[in-house]
Amino acid sequence: AGRSLISDCKERVQVVVRCRPLSEREIAAGHKSCVLIDKERNTVQIFTFDRAYDESCTQRQLYRDVAYSIVHSVMCGYNGTVLAYGQTASGKTYTMEGCDYCPDLWGIIPNAFEHIFNHIRQSQSSDSFLVRVSYLEIYNEEIHDLLSPDTNGRKLELKERPETGVYVKNLTSLSVNSFADINHLLMVGKRNRAVGATIMNQDSSRSHSIFTVTVETSSLAPQGNGKMHVRVGKLNLVDLAGSERLAKSGATGERFKEMTKINWSLSALANVISALVDGKATHIPYRDSKLTRLLQDSLGGNTCTVMIANIGPADYNYEESVSTLRYAHRAK
Ligand code: ADP
Ligand code: MG
Repeated sequence: AGRSLISDCKERVQVVVRCRPLSEREIAAGHKSCVLIDKERNTVQIFTFDRAYDESCTQRQLYRDVAYSIVHSVMCGYNGTVLAYGQTASGKTYTMEGCDYCPDLWGIIPNAFEHIFNHIRQSQSSDSFLVRVSYLEIYNEEIHDLLSPDTNGRKLELKERPETGVYVKNLTSLSVNSFADINHLLMVGKRNRAVGATIMNQDSSRSHSIFTVTVETSSLAPQGNGKMHVRVGKLNLVDLAGSERLAKSGATGERFKEMTKINWSLSALANVISALVDGKATHIPYRDSKLTRLLQDSLGGNTCTVMIANIGPADYNYEESVSTLRYAHRAK
């Protein structure tokens, strides 16, 4: 069924829900699942989505269904974005990264790496490829480079140029030649993120991370006149900050300010996505947050986007889960 998404992904934003299994700790504590998923109708509770996945969904199935066509289109020269949304501990990082020690448990990011390098290996020998990577996080509406050799994670600025659009000034961009190379950079960036968080006394669940892969393909023009044809696609792999609600958090001071900014940027994202899905909106409010400005050229237009809303099934999470469903449904 996933393949059918290829044909219509260019103008569509997909919103899917994934519910993780109860954890061992939740089972031990006697928590019950309170989420009702109908995989045929793609409903969760009273809400309908493009797809709804329960705990039986494997990492590979999710990749095939929701990410494969986007990565494929990036190699054809389109931009694409995969976003994981949800409260802390709902499974965003599991969905995006998974467990690196077992290929069956790889999340979307390592699967995308493998997909890209398999594609390159199997392509015509006359094609040449340039794959570049950048990795940043947005914390408190500030951008930090996660691949900067300066381990404090340099703070960067968003700039805009008429020809190239929005870009991050001085963002590290590294070229990679293999799965091992690119996976290494993911690990380096994660380590820098953890180190930076410790130094600045933050928590990575309060920042958005964006791993971007740009694939540039040069091939001989089909006319056979010796000219080269170049196409460039960009893939954004986004692990969003935890969506837990401000009202219930009891947060004060700095933590309150952080959460206000997170909520602000997540709602700016929902506004952009719903304006895109609506199709009739004349104004897409990209400028409202760093996140949406940064992703401007990869959300809407000739691009493919999927948002995966992650939820936990346990009864004590019920209100947060419903809030996630409501958010995801609004984005749709
Ligand atoms: P988040 O990034 O949203 O804070 P995590 O991805 O870290 O949440 O997930 C929280 C815990 O639940 C982790 O221990 C993770 O391995 C586990 N988990 C999440 N989703 C699944 C899943 N679909 N299957 C099995 N374990 C999962
Ligand atoms: Mg996480």
